[in-house]
Amino acid sequence: MKSMKTVTWVLPAAVVALFPTFAAAQEPIDTAQIAAIRAEERVHSGVSDLFYTLTDKFGPRLSGSPAYDAAARWAVNSFREYGLANPHLEPFRLGRAWSLEKLTAEMTSPRYMPLLAYAEAWSPATSGVLTGTPIYVGDSTIAEIDAMGSRLRNAIVLMARPQSEFLAQDRPEPSLGEEPVKTGNPPFPGPSSKAPRSEILLHLQKLGAGVALTPSATQHGTVRVQGSPATAADAVPTLVLASEQYGMLVRMARAKEPLTLRIEIGVHINQDRLDSDNVVAEIPGADLKDQVVLVGAHLDSWHTAVGATDNADAVSATMEAMRILAKLHASPRRTIRVVLWGGEEQGLVGSRAWVAQHLGQKVERDRISVYLNDDPGTGKTYGFYMEGNAGAKRIFDAWLTPLADLGVRRNVIEGIVATDHVPFVEAGVPAFTTIKDFSNYDVRTRHTNADFADAVKIEDVQQSAIVMAVFAWQAAMRDERIPH
Ligand SMILES: [Zn+2]
Repeated sequence: MKSMKTVTWVLPAAVVALFPTFAAAQEPIDTAQIAAIRAEERVHSGVSDLFYTLTDKFGPRLSGSPAYDAAARWAVNSFREYGLANPHLEPFRLGRAWSLEKLTAEMTSPRYMPLLAYAEAWSPATSGVLTGTPIYVGDSTIAEIDAMGSRLRNAIVLMARPQSEFLAQDRPEPSLGEEPVKTGNPPFPGPSSKAPRSEILLHLQKLGAGVALTPSATQHGTVRVQGSPATAADAVPTLVLASEQYGMLVRMARAKEPLTLRIEIGVHINQDRLDSDNVVAEIPGADLKDQVVLVGAHLDSWHTAVGATDNADAVSATMEAMRILAKLHASPRRTIRVVLWGGEEQGLVGSRAWVAQHLGQKVERDRISVYLNDDPGTGKTYGFYMEGNAGAKRIFDAWLTPLADLGVRRNVIEGIVATDHVPFVEAGVPAFTTIKDFSNYDVRTRHTNADFADAVKIEDVQQSAIVMAVFAWQAAMRDERIPH
């Protein structure tokens, strides 16, 4: 290998690409510490405990909900047990706390059938049990809806057309091949209706409708459900149904079958709890302690499953990376700080608040050497999205080399949106997020009722923990900060 180094300049680019270490030969690699990190994870892994505590014990961790708060307090205690410095909660404004207490959705005639239906997050409760024949308005104009008048009072409303288009394929794996990568979440088709959804909801509210039903844009019993803390307290309650069942109900309603549904949504709303929290702790640095290597992942999830792939796997890997470094009594040159974010699913609310609070001044931004985020996809960490930063990519490429046998693949130069490194990028801080696997993620688990622990392999989370610990360590120890 050594003698080849002198002749790489005459090799075709494709051959040079096989030996990325040449390009990054100047980047020091702490092989002893990397071996220690890997050995600690192999012998004393805490990943399984972390992951099943987050998923099976706490369950859905909708930001602001009691389950989220319990998970956040547990994370603070875990960081304290690891021996991290200053573990604490940092509040940010989210909106009133919401959790689901009861949900019944049944067809009672012409035959009995339970419906696969979920309340949208922050949906108000129904006023008791609603029973009736649903009214279909998916092909109605607003004027036609208004003309229905008192018929809509306390009514069960089928608000959208049956779903006919679905996201049928996961996005391509960005870590495979050498081609440029198209990044970002694939758009979901629908649901569609003749009038805009927001207008229909406003008019249904005015007319006193009881509940509004829409189909999921996913198939085969997978139901994708979100919601907004900005939902008005007196809005129409909303349910999302399995698309196949929703389509059947619309056909039966149109055919004037003797169709009756029974629906009840019970929720708990805490008007006094308007904040949620990020969780923060750190390993203090040494000679460069005023500079910070930040690692993080979002602790919150949606509410219809347990947020296993989105994002308990990444939270477990990030917490485990900190546990490993603390256990090794690592004394990094820079401070290594961890932040578990809340409010990611409502629009990066926690990370945006943190950046606004802590990075308003240039001198504060300059202290952040790098932010490493773990979120999109699931499974192993293959590399990082490099946000167009070629200088940082050369360094990260060198750091992947000693991890090649763990299944890392490549860093890609492209950036990615819609996760917690974005507010940092916007503030001019070098910030990158992990490349993971997308198989069964877009079509099956992301923001759906199928995001349970079985979708995740513990050994993949262990691998991600090692990659995060190694990258944090390398970033904390090198002479220079990560270039902008
Ligand atoms: Zn998500």
